Order: sequence, then structure tokens, then C-alpha cells
Amino acid sequence: MQNFEYSLEFAKKMDQQDPLRSFRDKFYFPSFTKGEPVYYTGNSLGLQPKSTASYIQEELEAWQKYGVEGHFLAKKPWVSYHEFLTSKAAKIVGAKEEEVVITHSLTTNLHLLMVSFYRPKGIRTKILCEGKAFPSDQYALQSQVKFHDLDLKDNLIEMFPREGENNLRDEDVIAKINELGDTLALVMIGGVNYYTGQKFDMKSITAAGHAVGSVVGWDLAHAAGNVELKLNEWGVDFAAWCTYKYMNSSPGGVSGMFVHEKHAYNTDLPRFAGWWGHNKERRFLMEPQFDPMRGAEGWQLSNAPVLGMAAHLASLDIFEEAGMDRIFAKRDLLTAYIEFIIDEITAKHGEKCSFEIITPRDKTKRGAQLSILVHGMGKALFDKMWDEGIIADWREPNVIRIGPAPLYNSFEDAYRFGQIIERVILA
Ligand SMILES: *Cc1c(COP(=O)(O)O)cnc(C)c1O
Repeated sequence: MQNFEYSLEFAKKMDQQDPLRSFRDKFYFPSFTKGEPVYYTGNSLGLQPKSTASYIQEELEAWQKYGVEGHFLAKKPWVSYHEFLTSKAAKIVGAKEEEVVITHSLTTNLHLLMVSFYRPKGIRTKILCEGKAFPSDQYALQSQVKFHDLDLKDNLIEMFPREGENNLRDEDVIAKINELGDTLALVMIGGVNYYTGQKFDMKSITAAGHAVGSVVGWDLAHAAGNVELKLNEWGVDFAAWCTYKYMNSSPGGVSGMFVHEKHAYNTDLPRFAGWWGHNKERRFLMEPQFDPMRGAEGWQLSNAPVLGMAAHLASLDIFEEAGMDRIFAKRDLLTAYIEFIIDEITAKHGEKCSFEIITPRDKTKRGAQLSILVHGMGKALFDKMWDEGIIADWREPNVIRIGPAPLYNSFEDAYRFGQIIERVILA
């Protein structure tokens, strides 16, 4: 265990020792709160890097100067703009460059990937997913099952934690995969659960799915930029993620898509096609016959929204400068420190208000998120925290989710978070 102390002096010392401390200055913090905010919703919408404007401005100027010729004459020609992002994004998810493309939005990409990789046939028709998945994933999965004229109840299998537990055990997921065996067509789970912050053992679950002949895909919305990923090495078939949560790439920003190299060159795979997925040497010949690009790029439909891509590039450059190892190290330390403070407060004020952390206590099973069940005081506590400048997320009936971001949250933020909660409890 860490020798943490719940004091301003200690928090400041931790900040001084933090190799990423200078990165806080690279971001804008919201200015609408009464005092200085404690921004704990980096898992929902990451803060704006101060550099984003200049990346977008560069493309606006190219558009002013070149009009349509910006596709070829801009410093980063728009016709291949997505290529400037690929290697940086691939590093974050542990992929080869040809396995990754930045394009579309997350739910769109999940659908496009399922069109190729959810191919129910004979008795192999079922999808295994986590219960209470993020709503968009639920709708996407349901509509994919219905798209194949299959019965939802029999074919969309949701898993829930054991009675009395908050998290799904990896071993139970694997047991369920084995039980479903050759009826299982697809395993599709959120790599980090959006509600509890639980990180699944993606490597073992992927292997288990493959052992029974299933395809395995991951929704990495809460995982990309947050936890270690080795998609290529783990043999994951496909994955998609958004970039506006941990990756600070603007509201509704572009998404990433991963197709493992074992599939990425297979031009026989069924897919929904568009011109940006067509052989790029021949794209402007406007031929009627679709010839998919090799690699993940072959799943692109449309030409890239350059302004949104520029925002993503700004953020990817910050990630590269910070380095994932340093981000992960701070993530563990900072999350553990907040956990410690929450436990201290419960020990002090438990009779009036106590906090039960439902995110796994084991740091290897979580990223930068804590989901906290509030007992004693409910929404009123949250509303007062909000008035005091804590920007966090409330989920009915009584869950507070916080997503401290290693790039811009400080240990002093954690201390102030604790102080505000105590003030509210004692008020
Ligand atoms: C944030 C999130 C989404 C959002 O999907 P968009 O298509 O980007 O609107 C979907 N699924 C999960 C698991 C998420 O966390």
C-alpha cells in the first residue's frame, strides 16, 4: 500500500514529483463554476488542449488559400489527412498501422464492423455482451441481430455480475463463452465498462472466444487512451473507440477503427462500401467496380472531416509527448490517491454519509475512473458538490462517476475534491 496522506501539503508534494505536472497547463479548464473547478469528467468529454485551435486554424487557412486544391496543396493534404493520425493512434491501441484508421463516429464504426464480422450462420448465431451496456451499444447490437431476422431473446445474450457483486468476473465471462460454444458468433463487450469502470481481461476473453470459434470485438470508448491495449498481440478481430473522452479530441469527435491484420487484407469479407475505402490510386477515376483498400482503411466510407481530424491530431501529439507509460503510471497513483481520500471521508463521516466504490479496487482491473455508490446522502450531496465546483457525473439511483485524467488532473484537485465533499457533508 501507498503511504498516502490526506493533506494539502502531501498533495502538493505529489504534484511536485509528478513528471506530467506541466501538461495541466496545456488545457483549458471550464470557467463557469464559482471557484476553480475540479474537472472529473475526462471520461465523458476530455478538456480542450490549448493547441487545438492552431491545428484547426491551419486547415481553415489552407481552405481560405487553396479552396478545393487544399486536398493536394495544404501542408497536410486533405486527401490523405487521416494518414497523419494513423501511426500515433495505432501506438495507443497496440496495433500495426495497417490495422487502424481514424474515421466516422463510434457507433457508425461498430455497425460497419459488425456488418463484416457478425455473420450468423447455421446454429452459430449468438452475440455475447455485458448487461447494461452503454445504450448506443445495446441499440446497435439489437439492431444487428434484427437485421439478420433473428430473435433477440435467443441471440443477444447479456451477462450480469453474480448476486451481491458489482463487477462481472472474467472467469464467468469465459465460462459463459464455453457454455455457448459453437452457438456463439460474436463476443462484443466494452473493454472498460462505462458504468463501473471495470477493465476486462481482454486478452483471455479474446482467446476464449476464439477457442470456441467465435469472433471477438471490443468497444474501447472508455479504454483507448486510458488503459494498456495490445490489440494486435491479443489477436482481437476488430475494435472501435471514440476520441472525445480520454483523448480530448472535441465533442462528437472522430472515431478509431481496428481490423486485425488477419482480416484486413481479406477483400472477400462482406462490407458496406464507400469511395474512401476504394483503392486510393484509382479513387478519382470514378470507376463503378469497388476495389477495397487493403488494411483498415478499406472500411472508410467518406472523405475525412478535416477540422475534426485536426482536433484529434492536436491531442494525439500531446499523448505522444507525454508517453503512455507515464500516463499509466500517473493514472494508477492518482486514482489510488482519490480512492484513499474517499475511504478516509467514509471512515470519518460514515454515520452521516458513506461511499462504496464499485470500481474494482485492484488497479490492474481498472483505468482512470471511480464509480461511487453514495449511502446516506444522495443527489442532494451531488448537487451541492456541483455548486462548489466539482464537475462529475451522476447516475440514478445513487452513483457518482469520476474520471480523473492523468494529463491534466492534479493531486491537489484530489485534495480539494475531498475538502469540498467534507464541507458539504458537514453543512
Ligand atoms: C461514449 C460511448 C458511446 C458513444 O457513441 P457515439 O457514437 O460516439 O455517440 C458508445 N458506446 C460506448 C461504450 C461509449 O462509452
